Amino acid sequence: GDQRELELRIMPYSGTQLLVIARDVTQLRKLERMRKDFVANVSHELKTPLTVMNGYLEMLEDGESLPPQMMEKAVHDMQGQTQRMQKMVNQLLELSRMEVQTQDNFSKRVPMSRLLNDIIAELGPVMQEKRLHLDVAITPDLSVWGSEDKLRSAGMNLLTNAIKYSPEGSNIKVSWQLVRDFAEFSVIDSGPGIPLEHIPRLTERFYRVEKDRNSASGGTGLGLSIVKHALEHHRSKLQVESTVGVGSKFYFRIPPELVSSPTS
Ligand code: ADP
Repeated sequence: GDQRELELRIMPYSGTQLLVIARDVTQLRKLERMRKDFVANVSHELKTPLTVMNGYLEMLEDGESLPPQMMEKAVHDMQGQTQRMQKMVNQLLELSRMEVQTQDNFSKRVPMSRLLNDIIAELGPVMQEKRLHLDVAITPDLSVWGSEDKLRSAGMNLLTNAIKYSPEGSNIKVSWQLVRDFAEFSVIDSGPGIPLEHIPRLTERFYRVEKDRNSASGGTGLGLSIVKHALEHHRSKLQVESTVGVGSKFYFRIPPELVSSPTS
């Protein structure tokens, strides 16, 4: 809560007097706790896939006569776990890179239509596989002053989630538009939606909504924390509107001072 934590040092002063020095260590302690939590989380998250892999390897070690189906499942599961760990490590690296380079400048003008087209092109095959239909809306010649990598990462993570959580054959709407001098990015899906109580916690590292937590092949819970970081850099915040059973809208607005459009 609002309690401050003080560190006291008491020293003899002169004669019978004592000198007391108080230091406010509230922030320091908070950071220490966060770092410890983080290490504990990473360890915990890596433990599960490693345990699964170990189990399979032991089984393979002593069972020469595994039925082919079992063999296939073992290989498939191990591949899934390895990919998930790989993804997690890559995302952790991305997060720490973002934390290091907080000071990059806003001297680069990033064209939004190219950025969005790149993202869509990259995700095209996955969308086709799920027979998803994509509606795209874009304000031509809209640019943002900032980091191309971070903006790409934000858009990519949000669209990837929309694809991942969409039922097969459904619609996704994605847009990069000028809205009252703000550059607004939004993704709307008709996925399962997210219960209200989870929404404030979505950008926490490793946070996943209840039902996703146990799925081994599922996500890492890091994507939205990367988005949060990328947006902070552009003085923006991730917004979520969602209705269970209907779908979700994830969006953010880049403030006018970082927007470059034909009208401004
Ligand atoms: P993950 O890798 O698990 O997708 P994220 O940080 O990207 O991690 O998302 C955190 C959680 O938020 C997800 O596990 C999922 O429960 C929920 N979520 C994110 N995007 C959507 C979406 N479009 N529809 C429904 N739930 C979502």
